[in-house]
Amino acid sequence: MSKNFDYIIIGAGSAGCILANKLSENPKNTVLLLEAGGSDQKFWIKTPLGYAFTYNDPKVNWRYNTEPDKNLNNRTAYWPRGKVIGGSSSINAMAYFRGLENDFSDWEKAGAENWSWVNVSKTYQSIEKHVSKKEVLGDGPIQISDLSEAMHPFTKHFMAAAKELNWPEPINTSTALEGLGYVHNTTKNGKRFSSADAFLHPIKKRKNLQILKNATVEKIIIKNLHAKGVMYEVKKAKKYSYANKEIILSAGAIGSPQILQVSGVGPKEVLKKSGVELIKHSPEVGQGLQDHLAITKYFSTSERTLNTDLGNIFGKVIAGIKYILTKSGPLSIPVNQTSGFVRSDIKSVVPDLQVYANPIAYSTDQHGRTYVNSKSGFLISVQPSRSTSRGSVNIQSPNVKVSPLINANSLNTKDDQLMAIKAGRMIQQIANTKAIKSVTKKAFDVNFMNLDDEGLLNSFREFASTVYHPCCTCRMGRSINNSVINNKLQIHGLKNIRVVDASSFPNITSGNINAPTMMLAYRAAEIILEDNV
Ligand SMILES: Cc1cc2nc3c(=O)[nH]c(=O)nc-3n(C[C@H](O)[C@H](O)[C@H](O)COP(=O)(O)OP(=O)(O)OC[C@H]3O[C@@H](n4cnc5c(N)ncnc54)[C@H](O)[C@@H]3O)c2cc1C
Repeated sequence: MSKNFDYIIIGAGSAGCILANKLSENPKNTVLLLEAGGSDQKFWIKTPLGYAFTYNDPKVNWRYNTEPDKNLNNRTAYWPRGKVIGGSSSINAMAYFRGLENDFSDWEKAGAENWSWVNVSKTYQSIEKHVSKKEVLGDGPIQISDLSEAMHPFTKHFMAAAKELNWPEPINTSTALEGLGYVHNTTKNGKRFSSADAFLHPIKKRKNLQILKNATVEKIIIKNLHAKGVMYEVKKAKKYSYANKEIILSAGAIGSPQILQVSGVGPKEVLKKSGVELIKHSPEVGQGLQDHLAITKYFSTSERTLNTDLGNIFGKVIAGIKYILTKSGPLSIPVNQTSGFVRSDIKSVVPDLQVYANPIAYSTDQHGRTYVNSKSGFLISVQPSRSTSRGSVNIQSPNVKVSPLINANSLNTKDDQLMAIKAGRMIQQIANTKAIKSVTKKAFDVNFMNLDDEGLLNSFREFASTVYHPCCTCRMGRSINNSVINNKLQIHGLKNIRVVDASSFPNITSGNINAPTMMLAYRAAEIILEDNV
């Protein structure tokens, strides 16, 4: 292969794998896919519950830390991101949620024309394959599995609580717009089914596609506002490749704005501080950062939960053997077992909170280490679906290997503060149902159950944590003054370059964002191919 390719894709994550597949479908198109991380053929990546191990493994994870967050009592947060083929879809918790209709109406309002629910739901239908014991629906490349029959028996108490609260009980949570149900996952035959499994591995032998692992992109070469090529490092050697048609940035919500900024595209004051020569003042690059925050409370119980199975060495060994021999048992099922969208009160026009109820009590510390309690427990976690605060990702060095400064700027709007209180109220409400009370021995945080609004807000500030959904850092919109890319994902003011990944979202969607990221990448590939006939 030459140094020239029709398309150069930066990042083989959730979005990048889809682009590599679609853009190389026509053998006449040559495609280079560059990924900073290495192979995803690792036991803990393929094992669904293995993300407790990949969560802070530097071999597959960028392991970012945010700056102190003033509205979260100056706490810093650990932000894992996949640095491996498959990107974050190789280390995530595999829950699949499309998002809600109103999320995409808001995308359109923000300037993402043709990204309404009507548009995006067609794409979802064409890329999904829903597999349950009873039936298979759809024949798309992404397998979404219904594992409800294999989930922990303790989850029946969560479903009973949902009934008591009169919530709908959806059969398929991945497409449902409201109610608590069993989480459907991107797994297949007891293994993780990442974007790489769905889109890249099946086609990696195509002659017109070159996949380069351990290749860190250091800079995009831009001449006269045209993106021409990329400079990257492989095994300490500098390499250059050039694009005949387009360069597509799919390095994720932290990586994409960082690469743009070190290449001279971003807010001029940020670039100046880091000594980067300005190519194009694009004030919103890195600036629209959004994320989901959740508050989680733990309870002890005398019933069996996953802690009984996994909270001791003996249980872990049994679970390991069962998984190796049969690809079943606790290691084959992601930990988020029941979840869904609910309304914070009856006046809410749309469901505005996401609930998770898991048959396990565990915690992770600031450094990404996971601890599973040895005694039987469970957790209830609630996240406001549509945060409105915006933070930033700004470089502090021209060297792409130096982590950028991540300012999450959480709870910076009145609306987010109100929703934080409502999230706490929702946990109190669920924990106070007869179904949950009858199996609760003790709340770990005894005071929480009696907190008033002020107390709940303080508790959120002290304990809420990221749900790992950073997005919107190169967001779609109409003009360079309030966005980075247009509705065709092209960077305002530059030629031959687009951003296609979670950073392209205009606003955060309800629920976990891997599904909307993959949907966005699939539609983006169609747009790119149309534009280049
Ligand atoms: C621990 C965790 C749990 C999560 N759980 C869920 C869940 O259950 N459900 C859900 O829907 N979502 C979940 N998410 C979020 C979801 O996985 C991500 O939002 C999604 O994968 C983002 O896709 P992306 O394509 O934007 O970026 P990524 O998938 O992160 O891909 C970016 C890729 O670019 C590469 N890259 C970056 N910089 C460079 C560079 N300079 N040169 C070359 N390559 C580079 C990275 O290594 C990476 O492979 C979770 C995320 C994490 C981290």
